[in-house]
Amino acid sequence: MRCPFCHAVDTRVIDSRLHADGTQIRRRRECVQCDQRFSTYEMYELVMPRIVKSHGERENFDEDKLRRGFERALEKRPVSTVQIDACIQRIKRQLQAESDKEVPSRRIGEHVMAELKALDQVAYVRFASVYRSFSDVTEFIGEIEKLSRHD
Ligand SMILES: [Zn+2]
Repeated sequence: MRCPFCHAVDTRVIDSRLHADGTQIRRRRECVQCDQRFSTYEMYELVMPRIVKSHGERENFDEDKLRRGFERALEKRPVSTVQIDACIQRIKRQLQAESDKEVPSRRIGEHVMAELKALDQVAYVRFASVYRSFSDVTEFIGEIEKLSRHD
């Protein structure tokens, strides 16, 4: 991989370790030419099922949207980015195990709630009540965005 600082082609790995609950490998690299250090991450590439929304529309699984949902739900809570990454990877593996074709969007919501429950009781209680009244995870994430703007 090219050095992001001087674009040299030759960089060497100085450290590799498991990251995000063992679902990623983080490699520390050093540029042979300019000695700058940077990190790269290696993770599975899973073929994600399509998401079937409550009214039957299909959409592609959107990892960024899921991450934003977690970040909003856990705003100002003592939960690290590494923990959120691990949750997202677990949810992706579970969804992929459930189907390689299509899964209903409520399954994402259920997985999110299960992860929040294990991570942070405050966030879980705060958002479980909100989620129950939604049939669709997109609406749920929209609602989280609205709520978090009021704090
Ligand atoms: Zn360099």
